[in-house]
Amino acid sequence: MTILYIPAQRGARRAPANWRDHAACADADPRLFFPAGTTGRADAEAQADRAKSVCAGCPVRAACLDWALATGQRTGVWGGRLLGSVPRGAAHR
Ligand code: SF4
Repeated sequence: MTILYIPAQRGARRAPANWRDHAACADADPRLFFPAGTTGRADAEAQADRAKSVCAGCPVRAACLDWALATGQRTGVWGGRLLGSVPRGAAHR
């Protein structure tokens, strides 16, 4: 079983800053921020766009992106940006 954490939750134990306390995604479905697409690449891209729309209204967007880049996050939507790309497999589902 894969356990996903949304950016506001991921790494919370080791992060000293409290920016996560103000995250707009705190109550969101974690899967939204790690687009996999269930019906293909377009679905995954639409999922990423929905996640980015949550980020658009987030007051800690810059801190989130800084943290993601500083800690080497390679996938998922962080600070309004999709790091990496939607999975290749999503195009063939
Ligand atoms: S910028 Fe997006 S991913 Fe980061 S904390 Fe805010 S809502 Fe969550």
